[in-house]
Amino acid sequence: MDIIVSKFGGTSVGSQEAIEKLREIVLEKEERKIIVVSAVSGVTDLLIKAGTEAKKKGNWKTVLADIRERHLKLIKELDIVLDLSKHFKGLEAFLRGIESIGELTPRSRDYILSFGERLSSKIIESFLEKKSKAIRINSKYLIKTNETFSSATLDMKETRKAVKKNLLPKLEEYDKIIITGFIGSTRQGEYTTFSRGGSDYSAAILANILDAKELEIWTDVDGILTANPKIIPQAKVIKNVNYREASELSYFGAKVLHPKTIEPVVEKGIPARVVNTFNHKNRGTLITEKSKKTIKSVSSKNGSYIINLYSTEMLGTSGFMAKIFSIFLEHSIVIDVVSTSESSISLTTECEPPTLLVRELEKHASVEILKNKTIISLVGEGLGERKNILYRLFGAVKNYSIRMVSQGALPQNITLVVDKRDEKLVIRAIYREFFN
Ligand code: ADP
Ligand code: ASP
Ligand code: MG
Repeated sequence: MDIIVSKFGGTSVGSQEAIEKLREIVLEKEERKIIVVSAVSGVTDLLIKAGTEAKKKGNWKTVLADIRERHLKLIKELDIVLDLSKHFKGLEAFLRGIESIGELTPRSRDYILSFGERLSSKIIESFLEKKSKAIRINSKYLIKTNETFSSATLDMKETRKAVKKNLLPKLEEYDKIIITGFIGSTRQGEYTTFSRGGSDYSAAILANILDAKELEIWTDVDGILTANPKIIPQAKVIKNVNYREASELSYFGAKVLHPKTIEPVVEKGIPARVVNTFNHKNRGTLITEKSKKTIKSVSSKNGSYIINLYSTEMLGTSGFMAKIFSIFLEHSIVIDVVSTSESSISLTTECEPPTLLVRELEKHASVEILKNKTIISLVGEGLGERKNILYRLFGAVKNYSIRMVSQGALPQNITLVVDKRDEKLVIRAIYREFFN
């Protein structure tokens, strides 16, 4: 039978109304068999807070009480019988331990965060069980990763084996299988997590392994929009984007999809759809191999650093770039945007460049670091089809300081880097020019 993998985000499991909608949606189609869930909205943030409060011997008990209350309220409203006291006791004991040693490692942070998805999935399982044959699987037993806690890398080979062993046998027996998003485990069985928002990625991985007919990302907006609705309230739903465009958009700030979501589905050509749990008859945005050659969306990503490198060593010599990039590789620092001239390179990173990296770079070039930058990307393969695009873009942003400009070989994206304080104004100016 064809399988649809349906992922429900935090707000889609965050209230009685949402969970009732979720059930209506999954019962509507027999194919919606794999239900990947996020933590109840706000709970992952609270778990992070509980951990940091415990470490500094602060008020973690109040935070824990809040987490407990939110779940108990849902259980009551949904009228299910479910005892989560074992989970809460376990979490409490762990936080007490953090408090007494005064240390919170990335490993213990991931263990604490795992409770978010473990608790929400329990509630969804109980609620679905009332109307279907449902079972929950902790993705610790399915998704295998390396040991980079809090930003783990998938181990696809081990994950395939685990899915074969722990998930496939259940497919025949159960109608609905609820799976925790976001979390995985190391070979030793310790909890890991993907980066924030990683449940989308978990669902995409399962869609790949199960050769799903479709991946559905159920969220709280009508699809991928022409801009972040928090900046442009009138932003419109895009009916269809292609895989490359969706990747660029999510990588450069469109929070609606985790940046890694597309990777597993592209490999198998699985269509993905972003849909609204609260408006579920709407078709949302379909992500496929091909889309119309239009300009799709403008997105922004905050908190970047620009690293400017100047060197006369670069003039006419070969291998200078290779040297610079290999330093980033040695320090495992991801570069987002690059632009170069004959004697300078500008690049951006998401994290603050560590001192050791800077020292290495200084052996080859003078280094300038600028913080609080925002990457703004105009995305859509239509950018390559039309004349005057750059003229219009630069005209639209003429009143702002543009710190970097980059356009890749493929015409799907033009990127500007601006000061954080100009983010909203620049987005609005670009939106007016290209989407109004
Ligand atoms: P979920 O909890 O369902 O995973 P997220 O909060 O991670 O939901 O992502 C959905 C949110 O992404 C929306 O509520 C919206 O505010 C934000 N967003 C930012 N950019 C875009 C965009 N281009 N299209 C749609 N949503 C966007
Ligand atoms: N609960 C996690 C987070 O808030 C993962 C997710 O929602 O996708 O980041
Ligand atoms: Mg999300």
